[in-house]
Amino acid sequence: MENKNYKLATKLIHAGVEPDPSTGAIMTPIYQTSTYVQAAPGDHKGYEYARTQNPTRTALQNALAAIENGKYGLCFGSGMAATDAVAKLLQPGDEVIVANDLYGGTYRIFTKVFANYGIKFHFIDMSNAENIRGYINEKTKMIWTETPTNPLLNIVDIAACGTIAKEHKLLLVVDNTFASPYLQNPLDQGADIVLHSATKYLGGHSDVVHGALIMNDAALEEKLRFIQNSCGAVPGPHDCWLVLRGIKTLHVRMQRHCENGEKIANYLRNHPKVGKVYWCGFEDHPNHDIAKKQMRGFGGMISFTLKSDRMDDAMHVLKNTQLFALAESLGGVESLIGHPASMTHGSIPREERIKNGLADSLIRLSVGIEDVDDLIADLAQAIG
Ligand SMILES: *Cc1c(COP(=O)(O)O)cnc(C)c1O
Repeated sequence: MENKNYKLATKLIHAGVEPDPSTGAIMTPIYQTSTYVQAAPGDHKGYEYARTQNPTRTALQNALAAIENGKYGLCFGSGMAATDAVAKLLQPGDEVIVANDLYGGTYRIFTKVFANYGIKFHFIDMSNAENIRGYINEKTKMIWTETPTNPLLNIVDIAACGTIAKEHKLLLVVDNTFASPYLQNPLDQGADIVLHSATKYLGGHSDVVHGALIMNDAALEEKLRFIQNSCGAVPGPHDCWLVLRGIKTLHVRMQRHCENGEKIANYLRNHPKVGKVYWCGFEDHPNHDIAKKQMRGFGGMISFTLKSDRMDDAMHVLKNTQLFALAESLGGVESLIGHPASMTHGSIPREERIKNGLADSLIRLSVGIEDVDDLIADLAQAIG
């Protein structure tokens, strides 16, 4: 599908995929092969070895590029493998400015893996993008952000980060896992690389672990494709197929995630035992105006604390929901409930965690696409 002018819903279903040339199969086959037969050395159909290229992966890479309004897509075995590939663009001595409210695994790979290779990470509050300027020096190479952030649903102004990145010739990387391309397209707002844990909304069915990078710059794509092939953290064709199938319904799922999210955020906000509710759709969210400017909706990720702020009370809620399953991860059709302090963000030291606003009683919801009345009734009985 060459026509880039199609709207998202059409691209989600058609971009990157062509009927299979050998049979006409409408669904891209799962090319479960490790190698490809050559007619003579070098005389092949563009496929030599399956770490380097696989047709199922190619279809997905092209589809992901199209839905993020990018030119190139690269797929990885997980979101963390995609993060790892981007960090490998750096050299010892380089510095990166990173949003301080971010996915725990990203914090871990930067502080526990790449810091050992002489790369310095500054974790800062990016709710005002101008804060970034104070950390830029001649060694700075990259700005890394996530928006909405995990789990506090803070909003970072992508366009403002893009302006700063351009002024100082830095790469701007945006982890778009929480918003998905349905809600925002960071490349259109000045990002150089968009990262996805496709494990979440893109896959959407909690049945695959997968990561992706999307970009516009050919030289950057070449470097990252070299890392993808050299380091080898590639997904198998079956996993690519699952994501390819998942994205076909992204728009329909996201519409419902947003509707359910709004109703549940408002329900929680009026609950007498609930403390603070974090959801970027509230008009009094500190960066609601930026959210409105850069997003097309506010999504189904909500965090909240309990008025008591007691760990025990949070545990009671976590143990007593029937529909919201207690599990890590997010973005699937089924609703999940989690406790960042002991689960996704368990690798962040308590002092650092509290300093960044992740209270002991903080509960995170990934609101699924079930009937919202049933979801609200479930929360009602669990919170008590
Ligand atoms: C899950 C997640 C990741 C890591 O992705 P995996 O597929 O689990 O490796 C990175 N960023 C965000 C925001 C995530 O939610």
